[in-house]
Amino acid sequence: MNKITPQPGILDITLYQSGASHVAGVSNVVKMSSNENPLGPNPRAVEAMQTAAAQMHRYPSSDHASLRQAIGDVHGLNPELIICGAGSDEIIAFLCQCYAGAGDEVLYTEHGFSMYRISALAAGATPVEVKERERVADVDALLAGCTERTKLVFIANPNNPTGTMISEAEVARLADGLPEGALLVLDGAYAEYVEGFDAGAALVNARDNVVMTRTFSKIYGLGGARIGWGYGPAAVIDVLNRVRGPFNVSSTALAGAEASVRDVDYVVTCRSENAKWRGWLAEALAEVGVVSDISCTNFILARFASQGEAEACDLYLQKQGLIVRRVAGYNLPEALRITIGDETSCRHLAQAVKDFKNGAV
Ligand SMILES: *Cc1c(COP(=O)(O)O)cnc(C)c1O
Repeated sequence: MNKITPQPGILDITLYQSGASHVAGVSNVVKMSSNENPLGPNPRAVEAMQTAAAQMHRYPSSDHASLRQAIGDVHGLNPELIICGAGSDEIIAFLCQCYAGAGDEVLYTEHGFSMYRISALAAGATPVEVKERERVADVDALLAGCTERTKLVFIANPNNPTGTMISEAEVARLADGLPEGALLVLDGAYAEYVEGFDAGAALVNARDNVVMTRTFSKIYGLGGARIGWGYGPAAVIDVLNRVRGPFNVSSTALAGAEASVRDVDYVVTCRSENAKWRGWLAEALAEVGVVSDISCTNFILARFASQGEAEACDLYLQKQGLIVRRVAGYNLPEALRITIGDETSCRHLAQAVKDFKNGAV
């Protein structure tokens, strides 16, 4: 018998499925599968990254002070309470590594982001999935799911892949009701798509058991750079910094993120374009009987009559060079998650779904 074995939990991890980016035999595909910004990164970010690239022989900043200051300035937050990571995925991993181990429970919802489970298992903790109510996080169910072993409770607000969100009052009620010793993590990956939304920053300021994570991968269009951040109580940020590698974020990512966060106008443009085509697409699909909940994000969760119909539609879309995301792995087998593209992509997608519903194969 092989005595070289991984830690308990590791072999229970199912590999993360990322959105596909090609279809065999089809060139010129339109990728609407990974919630990427169809307008691309901010040109100022690209320029800043090019400049930074010329200094690639230097190690990056270890304390990320300049980016933390920029984030603090723009969002009105104390830079001392910010930590930067290689994507918000890394912050999620740090949280699990630091706060959950063997015998501890990590809660998340039925249709919650798959990295919560993966990071919980990687830390040796027990992942616990809690029911949602009609594709919306259910605070009562989350509170009922807590035990004295609960160490972390993750919710994405708005959530991926449902696109729904819960109110500030509901989030506060959740934070209030958690057992002592449990930390609430508010994943704000899509927060910028909700105008005027602070993603829970005020709640972080008011309490000692709430942390917020954010990313540059979605509205800022920097998914390829791998950069995100967390904001939390001083004691939590101190703990996370102890496990953070000194050079966990590259100098190009830092430069691109800083240029992006300071250009508030670009975010406004991306948000309003997204809202316009999101509304248009949801309506166009509803006209042919493909319904969706009102989305607060840059995608819609299109619901079909059955898993079979969703899969058949996906195959038809692939033949048209349109790549969307199956979400059976998120307990939503009858749905497809469709990222809001630019006008051309949205029109193309809507037409293809109409043709499919009218019998095209
Ligand atoms: C995309 C996404 C993230 C962001 O991941 P990064 O590591 O920052 O690219 C985090 N949470 C949710 C719910 C997401 O959909």
